[in-house]
Amino acid sequence: MRIEVLRKSLFETNDKAASENRRILDEHGVVAVNIMGGAGCGKTTLLEGVIPHLRHDVGIGVLEGDLATTKDAERIAALDVPVVQLLTEGGCHLTATLVEQGLARLSLPQLDHVLIENVGNPICPVNFDLGEYARLAVLSVAEGDDKPAKYPYLYKAASRVVITKCDLLESCSFDLDHAVSDIHALNPDVPVYATSRKDFRTMMPLVGWLRSLCNREGITAIGLRHGAARRPN
Ligand code: MG
Ligand code: ZN
Repeated sequence: MRIEVLRKSLFETNDKAASENRRILDEHGVVAVNIMGGAGCGKTTLLEGVIPHLRHDVGIGVLEGDLATTKDAERIAALDVPVVQLLTEGGCHLTATLVEQGLARLSLPQLDHVLIENVGNPICPVNFDLGEYARLAVLSVAEGDDKPAKYPYLYKAASRVVITKCDLLESCSFDLDHAVSDIHALNPDVPVYATSRKDFRTMMPLVGWLRSLCNREGITAIGLRHGAARRPN
C-alpha cells in the first residue's frame, strides 16, 4: 500500500501574501523596511529619532506590530505621520497577511517608505518575509554584547544593524568592539550604527541610509527565501 504524504509549507500562506505585498509596494515605488529586535531594545525610540529628519521630504508611513495596545502607534502619530497599529493578539511575530491589511490602510501613492516595526522578539520574526526591501536589526546595550552570537539569524539577515542605548555602555559592561566583531562574523560587510537617544545626532547615519533607499529609480524589491541571508545595498 502506497502512503501519500501531504506537507503544506508552514510558510506557504505567508510567502504568497509577502509576494503580493512586494508587488503592491513595487507598483507604488514604496520601499518597506522591516525593523526587528527584542522587546524594549528601542525600535520605537529609533523611529522617533529618525522620522522628524525625513518626514518633510520623504513620504513615510509606519506599521506598528505589537501583541496588545496602541501605545507605540500613539507615539508615532504624535510625529504627524500616518500609522497603523497591527495587533497580533498574542502572536510573537508579524505575518505578511497582517502587513497586507496594514498596507491597505495606508495611502501608498503618497509614500516613499513604509517602516514596519515588528513585534519585540529577536527570534521568529526573522523567518517571516513581509515583502520588505530591507531589514534593520536593533540591539540595545542593555541586552548584552553576547546577543549577536546567541541570536545569529537576526544579524545574518540584516541590511543594517543599529546598537541603541550606547550611553549605557559602561554601566552595562557592554563591549562594543566585541559585539561588532560578532556581528561581522555573521554578516561580514553589514554597516553597524551605534546610537543613543541622549544624542539624536548618532541616528543621522540611519537617516542617511533610509534617505538613500528612497531613490525611486531602479528600485527592485528583492525576494527573501526563507532562511536565506539577504543584503541589499
Ligand atoms: Mg516598540
Ligand atoms: Zn513568532
